[in-house]
Amino acid sequence: MNTGRSKQLYNDAQSFMPGGVNSPVRAFKSIGRTPLFIDRAKGSRIFDADGNEYIDYVCSWGPDIFGHADPDILSAVAAACEKGLTFGACHEGEITLAKRIKKHFPNMELLRLVSSGTEAAMSAVRAARGYTRRDKIIKFEGCYHGHSDGLLVKAGSGLLTAAVPDSAGVPKGYTESTLLARYNDTESVRAFFERFGSEIAAVIVEPCAANMGVVPPAKGFLEYLRKVTLEYGSLLIFDEVITGFRLSIGGAGKKYSIVPDLTVLGKIVGGGMPLAAYGGRREIMECVAPLGSVYQAGTLSGNPVAVAAGNAQLEKIERTSDLYDTLDRRGAMLEGSLKNAGFNVNREGSLLTVFFTNERVTDFASAEKSDTAQYADFCGYLLDNGIYTAPSQFEAMFLSYSHSDEDIEHTCEVIEGYARRH
Ligand SMILES: *Cc1c(COP(=O)(O)O)cnc(C)c1O
Repeated sequence: MNTGRSKQLYNDAQSFMPGGVNSPVRAFKSIGRTPLFIDRAKGSRIFDADGNEYIDYVCSWGPDIFGHADPDILSAVAAACEKGLTFGACHEGEITLAKRIKKHFPNMELLRLVSSGTEAAMSAVRAARGYTRRDKIIKFEGCYHGHSDGLLVKAGSGLLTAAVPDSAGVPKGYTESTLLARYNDTESVRAFFERFGSEIAAVIVEPCAANMGVVPPAKGFLEYLRKVTLEYGSLLIFDEVITGFRLSIGGAGKKYSIVPDLTVLGKIVGGGMPLAAYGGRREIMECVAPLGSVYQAGTLSGNPVAVAAGNAQLEKIERTSDLYDTLDRRGAMLEGSLKNAGFNVNREGSLLTVFFTNERVTDFASAEKSDTAQYADFCGYLLDNGIYTAPSQFEAMFLSYSHSDEDIEHTCEVIEGYARRH
């Protein structure tokens, strides 16, 4: 497989962008390879600058639930472009999209459209703090909520200590109010509430974690979060940027029958364009400007082209009646074959991660035990054999509706080939 053109482009890119990329994981650092530069993508396939073809299990990290360049979404986008790329003013498509979102996430009585998951999560936390007039939030090790200052904390200094920022450039003060608990560990949450209960504005959680690899919630975990937040007058925020419209049409909240106070959406909701949303109970969202004193704004918020893509994608989700059954069945095929080949797999619907540890992965500590060198070897082998999957252990494989049974079968054969060699 020749990747000369990608190598040359990567060299050029490094003269202009830090590490040659616009988002760090794209640099392929953790698998020790040169990143592939992508020329185009269609359906389940992605094509690099050298013309190599791959079955794509990254799907732009989730948005492409119908695969790449879906014709229905493309034509909606093209039509919207003709009418102007941005207005910075109200338009009817925003209402259509908000109505669609609310139909499937009825707890989002009022919602805001923004441009990225980072912005949506940051704004939801601000609304929660404004509404409760409290400062502290609880987040979980290994959960990702975008790169805003106060949420950029995953590895801290143990229970009941203020979290230390993960990134340089984040003043310690910005994360002082972020309490770091352990995923699937109700005791770690209980301890915080017992000590700081009346100061905790919200608990923010990925209801099925997918940013430490896929780690589904343990039985009773989300139920406990719902109960304890109600008890202390704190809000529960579900970050469904990955799980929204993926685990079910109403996301993880619907799948697990838990109703949060605020929901954060991104990725799928934008149909491949920069669009995200946050929303929740009316009285909470009424704190947001211009109704209330929580400020949040955006030049490109509700951008008409992005909204058209989101509307087309959600409309297609609504009319594709076998979407979630098909995704789940293909996910089960892949999971079955991986497990037969001896791999340790976590799966929830169309999200799946292979871990290289003998332990069951239930939280960040157990995810971290995975042998990342072995993951790199596995991922490199897949790439060499035309399978494009996340260039990092702590991510999910994403299935789309356009992955055919043949795509999955071929992928299973490649994986079995890898297992035989090792
Ligand atoms: C991707 C992601 C975000 C951030 O979204 P961006 O659009 O990349 O800013 C936030 N939360 C979760 C759960 C995500 O997976």
